Amino acid sequence: MCKEAGVEAGETKTVFALKAAAKDVKALEKCPDPSPILVGPLRIEFSSPVSLDLVRSENPDVQEGGRFRPRDCVALQKVAIIIPFRNRDEHLKFWLYYLHPILQRQQLDYGVYIINQDGDEVFNRAKLLNVGYMEALKEYDYDCFIFSDVDLIPMDDRNTYKCFSQPRHLSVSMDKFGFRLPYNQYFGGVSSMSKQQFLKINGFPNNYWGWGGEDDDIYNRLSSKGMSISRPSGAVGKCRMIRHDRDKQNEPNPQRFNRIAHTRETMNQDGINSLTYKVIRVEKDQLYTKITVDVGRRFM
Ligand code: BGC
Repeated sequence: MCKEAGVEAGETKTVFALKAAAKDVKALEKCPDPSPILVGPLRIEFSSPVSLDLVRSENPDVQEGGRFRPRDCVALQKVAIIIPFRNRDEHLKFWLYYLHPILQRQQLDYGVYIINQDGDEVFNRAKLLNVGYMEALKEYDYDCFIFSDVDLIPMDDRNTYKCFSQPRHLSVSMDKFGFRLPYNQYFGGVSSMSKQQFLKINGFPNNYWGWGGEDDDIYNRLSSKGMSISRPSGAVGKCRMIRHDRDKQNEPNPQRFNRIAHTRETMNQDGINSLTYKVIRVEKDQLYTKITVDVGRRFM
């Protein structure tokens, strides 16, 4: 009598089907690098507002919490995208509208984390980024972290939001700076770091309150640990910033010059190893996970 292939005596059809499905999962190959479905330069503009409902319906494969992984291949990296945030809902809509399709074409296994500073104390971008790193890792075994301002949109999907053998600066030619780097050590806007690279520098500083300097401190941390900055070409790294007035409670920080001058002495005590905060609220939307957090206040 002819036996169904692979079905042992006593094995039910359900078990057989489960085994076959497991085999299918195993059979998935790694996604190719670069992704074959990229399109290159993109038209980015902010003249007409977008609604979250539109973004949700245009991205049906994005799952609750802003999570996605490619269906047909195994993503090369597990990427948490961390966005420091406060009162920028209009910008966030544009970011989600443009980035979700790009990140899906880049075939990443990714999640989007909006780290919202509670209250109306002075803003602390770098501390929010540290919080994002910690909170994202509580949810999934991410191996790469993208740190992105909410108002920056890449103009070319070949600028892959992933990690490299050196920390990466992705927003290399911003319209605001005439599509060039404002200075060689500039590390602001959008950057990426593997878990290992992030831990090597003890994460980011927690004590830069207000605008400016924290990105220069991060650059100092990287270079003091012997790392260099990797960047895409100026053409691939083009991006647009959504114009806006300066936020309240984010005035230029007058202490930044003094702090940047002492990164090497402070970085081992101030960073992910000294981070304290309180999570106030976690909201899950199809397009993002929003974590509202109390990061404390500046002591004068
Ligand atoms: C600030 C940085 C900022 C850069 C570009 C520097 O003076 O310290 O934080 O990213 O200018 O605006």
